[in-house]
Amino acid sequence: MVILALCCKPSKGEEIKAIANTGKIKVHKYNCIQIEELTYIKPERLLDAYWIRSGNTLEAIKLLIEQRFGLLADISSRVHAIGGEVKRAEINDNILSIIIELPKDERSILNMSLKLATGVKSVEFNK
Ligand SMILES: [Zn+2]
Repeated sequence: MVILALCCKPSKGEEIKAIANTGKIKVHKYNCIQIEELTYIKPERLLDAYWIRSGNTLEAIKLLIEQRFGLLADISSRVHAIGGEVKRAEINDNILSIIIELPKDERSILNMSLKLATGVKSVEFNK
């Protein structure tokens, strides 16, 4: 679940960062005090986040991630939770290559949910 933080109320187009909690991702302005604090205390919970351009079609993303047990199931459930779908997944040389589609919704944030899966090698946006 993705939530916009109440402390700094980020709005569309502003530079943002996200904080991972169990089952929840909170989006803050990049310069929110909570982001700054976490940078020192628990940087591993900080995620890059981006706004999706608005529209009504789907956005395709390709991810390359170091394979680990349960990774695909983990990503699938995160993708489903934000209304997306896993279109293709394959493993080569211990790297999971996965193509997902997410709804293009101005309040959806692409990337942060996926960064939760540790070991993301690259993220590509196909348009
Ligand atoms: Zn904040």
